Amino acid sequence: MSDDGLTAERAARFAPALLQWFETAGRKDLPWQRDPTPYRVWVSEIMLQQTQVATAIPYYEAFLARFPDVRTLAAARLDEVLHLWSGLGYYARARNLQRAAQAIVARHGGEFPQDFAEVLALPGIGRSTAGAILALSRGERHAILDGNVKRVLARHFGVEGYPGTPAVERRLWELSEACTPWSRLAGYTQAVMDLGATVCSRARPVCLLCPVSRDCVARQLNLQDRLPAPKPRVLRPVREAWLVVAMRGGSKVLLERRPPAGIWGGLWGLPEFPTRAHAEQWCGEQLTGAAVPRRADPLEHAFTHFHYRMRPLVVHCQGKAAALRDDDRYRWYDARQPARVGVPRPVATLIARVTAVTGED
Ligand code: SF4
Repeated sequence: MSDDGLTAERAARFAPALLQWFETAGRKDLPWQRDPTPYRVWVSEIMLQQTQVATAIPYYEAFLARFPDVRTLAAARLDEVLHLWSGLGYYARARNLQRAAQAIVARHGGEFPQDFAEVLALPGIGRSTAGAILALSRGERHAILDGNVKRVLARHFGVEGYPGTPAVERRLWELSEACTPWSRLAGYTQAVMDLGATVCSRARPVCLLCPVSRDCVARQLNLQDRLPAPKPRVLRPVREAWLVVAMRGGSKVLLERRPPAGIWGGLWGLPEFPTRAHAEQWCGEQLTGAAVPRRADPLEHAFTHFHYRMRPLVVHCQGKAAALRDDDRYRWYDARQPARVGVPRPVATLIARVTAVTGED
């Protein structure tokens, strides 16, 4: 039999085996699986893009309790949306969720769109996410290709090369299309994601428990460790910034709202400067009469494309120096009673570290 014929046969056997396994082993009681409306499935898909299920569940429940539908999310203050996302990282996901909710209200009267192309046109929703939302909530036939599915298909069909390259990705989409059945779409879509998350895991696939192991090329050739091929290594540059930790009392820290675009866009961070001299100049101008700033230990955070090294300069403010008022740009944030605003976790860590070091008032 030709390679194409063999692949087609494998693809035809894939969904039935997976669906049978799903009946007994699949996850069927996740919060977004109860009453799987497009809105609820959509929020879960966005949260799960870079977050494990167990981590996402409490965030998901808090998010849905506060924003139970598209209209509530569309009308919310961005600060509150980001607050409920604080700790999950990749904040563009939260900003896009809200922008998309607003677009659904403006363009579709608040009803999640019916049409695949209209779903795909919403901010933050790519081809795989659009397919997953419509398959899981409405049982429509769409292939998906998230990170878990890429790994399963690359191993199962022995696809070489890094899945992020266009040719490999195209091949994986073809295979995903070929494997997608014509019925039981919600079950199949959940099953293929579950297989990648629980059995065909990145580090230790449990081939003995795998429902499609009989056909799996990686298992037959013992290539589980080599497929899919890892991302070619590139050295991430280091970006350094000086952050002013202006303190009032023992626990209040001055925050500045970050610009809407760029890293942590729209969240509250510490006043940030490219050099120590810039930071000290700002302290001299804005925090008149404050103590001399002193350095504290730096903190690093890894972003996808660079390392961000935060160099704190701690300055104690009294009298005039502490007179900066809360407004839309600045606010005094009490580390002991945090306000409901979005603060990136590394900034919260830095604040906790500094306020613990300096002690109570
Ligand atoms: Fe993954 Fe192993 Fe199943 Fe192949 S047999 S799909 S490598 S778990």
